[in-house]
Amino acid sequence: MTAQGLPRSAAGGALRRAACVILALLGAVLGRHGPSRPFMLASVSAAPAPPAFDSSRAWEHLRQLVAIGPRPSGSPGIEQARKYISTKLAAAGVAPLEQQWVADTPAGRVPMVNLVAAIPGARRDRIVFAGHYDTKRFPFRFVGASDGGSSAAFLIELARVLKARRGPLTIELLFLDGEEAVNEVWAGTDNTYGSRHYVDEARKNGSLASLKALVLVDMIGDRNLTIRRDLNSTPWLTDIIWNAARRLKLDSAFLPDSTQVEDDHIPFLKAGVPAVDLIDLDYPPWHTAQDTLDAVSARSLQTVGDVVLAALPQLEARLTARQ
Ligand SMILES: [Zn+2]
Repeated sequence: MTAQGLPRSAAGGALRRAACVILALLGAVLGRHGPSRPFMLASVSAAPAPPAFDSSRAWEHLRQLVAIGPRPSGSPGIEQARKYISTKLAAAGVAPLEQQWVADTPAGRVPMVNLVAAIPGARRDRIVFAGHYDTKRFPFRFVGASDGGSSAAFLIELARVLKARRGPLTIELLFLDGEEAVNEVWAGTDNTYGSRHYVDEARKNGSLASLKALVLVDMIGDRNLTIRRDLNSTPWLTDIIWNAARRLKLDSAFLPDSTQVEDDHIPFLKAGVPAVDLIDLDYPPWHTAQDTLDAVSARSLQTVGDVVLAALPQLEARLTARQ
């Protein structure tokens, strides 16, 4: 951007904002005094705008989940978290289905449950927004504010926002169990139990073909949010997200540099589903007792919410253009 470009575009933005305010005021005045309807319809879209992502709501979900305490797979804590998530989704009109199974883990057989909530669109083809809601088991008290809490809280609020919007594609909110390794170290098949199970089931029940893209969020609560492009993720899908961040001038959180992450998106990628992982692993409290409310912020959840919602129309356009 040139030195002259900045003030010019800033002035343009101010003028547009002023024009909007004047139109809104005119609309409000005329709206109270009679023959204003044609004017209102001409100046304001007839359909109400979908609600914006509200990080104060997401923050309250995060606070409630953390207050439950540790939430590892198969524990009373995760059962309580599941009830919380299901209740909030049902209240938003997006009651989830439970996908239950028993996983073979190094600690024996562990019952696990994914929660799947669908918001129908014009087509059955779907975009899945996913994140894990389990926390890693540790001998110390680990409450996973960012790691497990932030993704679940984010998706509950995203469900509320997207429910009010009828899109061209079906939207699915997927709360994954068993992302964390049961053992201390992440190795082999001792991780991503929920995403592997979901993809296996989708393959078996024939719903894999209608799964057009996955947007995975994980550890997005970091107060100092820095999300890097993941080299395992699908490049065009990553570009759509990062372009949205640039448009919103949120590229201080969505950095241009790259990293390589193994996470719940890998089983989807292996199945041929385009996928992107939005994750902030540059988080000193990661897998420590310090991953608490003090280390995370509502502002970070807002940033990711704004970017994901700004990217969604581009994602839908890309997926419907390819049909
Ligand atoms: Zn973790």
